[in-house]
Amino acid sequence: MQQLDIVKIRKDFPALDQKVFDRPLVYLDNAATSQKPKQVIDAISNYYSTINSNVHRGVHHLSQQATEAFEHTREHIQKYINAQNSHEIIITKGATDSINLMAYSFGKKYLQLDDEVIISALEHHANIVPWQMICKELGAKLHVIPMNDEGELLLEKFEKMINQKTKIVAVGHVSNALGIINPVEEIIEIAHKHNIPVMIDGAQGIVHKKVDIQDLDCDFYCFSSHKFYGPMGVGILYGKEKYLEKMPPYQTGGEMIKKVTFKKTTFNDLPYKFETGTPNVADVIGFDAALNYIEGIGIENIEEYETELLQYATEKLKGIDGVKIYGEVPHKAGVISFNLKDIHPYDAGTIIDRFGIAVRTGNHCAQPIMDRLDIPGTIRASFAFYNTKDEVDRLAEALEKVKEMFG
Ligand code: PLP
Repeated sequence: MQQLDIVKIRKDFPALDQKVFDRPLVYLDNAATSQKPKQVIDAISNYYSTINSNVHRGVHHLSQQATEAFEHTREHIQKYINAQNSHEIIITKGATDSINLMAYSFGKKYLQLDDEVIISALEHHANIVPWQMICKELGAKLHVIPMNDEGELLLEKFEKMINQKTKIVAVGHVSNALGIINPVEEIIEIAHKHNIPVMIDGAQGIVHKKVDIQDLDCDFYCFSSHKFYGPMGVGILYGKEKYLEKMPPYQTGGEMIKKVTFKKTTFNDLPYKFETGTPNVADVIGFDAALNYIEGIGIENIEEYETELLQYATEKLKGIDGVKIYGEVPHKAGVISFNLKDIHPYDAGTIIDRFGIAVRTGNHCAQPIMDRLDIPGTIRASFAFYNTKDEVDRLAEALEKVKEMFG
């Protein structure tokens, strides 16, 4: 593994180089969104300054160049996750959009009255609500793999939940609220034994770990560009061709059609059947630059560095009297969720902010986890490869100050 040159890396991220309340910013809200390297910012600016035009429609030079750059990103994503075909890569607006596409399109094709969908107790609202809505609409049932007090999913219960009515399993790769890496390989294996497809919500997974879709053998995988050092407004849904081919369009309009008459419309081939209207071309091209950037550093190097940083931060925070960490299990990535004894997370977060440190407080769009743990929320520090041990020390100092202030 290669040692990362963090000083050099940080120079690539302009937003990290600023003061907040007169102190150098410590950005520990990466699970909400990551900062962007200047290579990404430049790629977006460059697109608008040079080849800005609509894609897939024009015969003119600019449109062809924009289309080429846009499709190049799709192929880049395909290679990055080792998908078999580029038409299995659907470009969406974000992970939430991808999951909505899944729930509505997969749901309309494969779910009927009394069928069952399985999610887990560790999901982000984005992987709960769309399934809840489609189940309600179609009279299907939503079941939840339970977790233990540490936040680990109970796989023995999962296998018992599966029956003839189960039509899909949709689980997160890594919990955004607790940082727990779910045993997705085992979940996929168990589901496949029963011929049930699996969708992985990889919004917090792909950012910390190498994802090889063919190794993982999941049937769908989705994520957002903006958590992965790319721009906002771009998401990915990978799906196996055998399912995508049969799924109906999620939205309709221009781009996704083959032929339209007032009587009838036929739909375009994959992946365009699922990509309606003008896409977010500039940001898709910006995401290509993000992938280049990550490949330049190496996701394995990132994973190793972040794992060490997380261990350091965990030990540091455990050394502070009154800190309670949630979800402290061996397999974790990028996140520490904790509370300070007798201090509401929101109050703590407000004071931590005054020290120039950005953490997230609250339920992290995962209210069922907070209900299960019987807490109003947590303070969440989430890490990226540009964070340092010094920044962890600054967080620890701020927590001591919060304790002092609350007596
Ligand atoms: N899934 C998980 C695990 C997440 O952490 C998030 C965002 O925090 C989402 C889905 C939704 O991502 P987005 O808001 O980019 O659509």
